[in-house]
Amino acid sequence: MSTIFSKIIAGEIPADIVYQDELVTAFRDINPQAPTHILIVPNKEIATVNDLAAEDEQVAGRLLLVAKKLAAQEGIAEDGYRLMINCNQHGGQEVFHVHLHLLGGRPLGPMLMRR
Ligand code: 5GP
Repeated sequence: MSTIFSKIIAGEIPADIVYQDELVTAFRDINPQAPTHILIVPNKEIATVNDLAAEDEQVAGRLLLVAKKLAAQEGIAEDGYRLMINCNQHGGQEVFHVHLHLLGGRPLGPMLMRR
């Protein structure tokens, strides 16, 4: 069964796609937590960071380089931004297809909620 993100990458369900190449696709989060909230996703289905293999090194690096490019494009590079990948239950992962969150456009506050 393919993930919701695979369906977006394949163009089967709509999304605001801001970047796509042979390795990754980036689109705006449907429920943005900041003025800029973009998800950068490997085109290949990889469930979690735990499932990354040595052969995924190029795609893993591409996620970061595309985040940097999109941050500049969004005009948030100078002020700064946050990159985040959630993994499994304690990480709060909801969609089991690796994705890098690019968040910015306002001060984002402390990294973790205080308990
Ligand atoms: P996670 O909690 O897995 O790190 O983040 C999943 C993210 O995917 C959430 O921020 C959620 O709003 C976003 N999301 C879930 N379904 C869709 C969708 O169908 N389209 C888009 N654009 N974003 C989605």
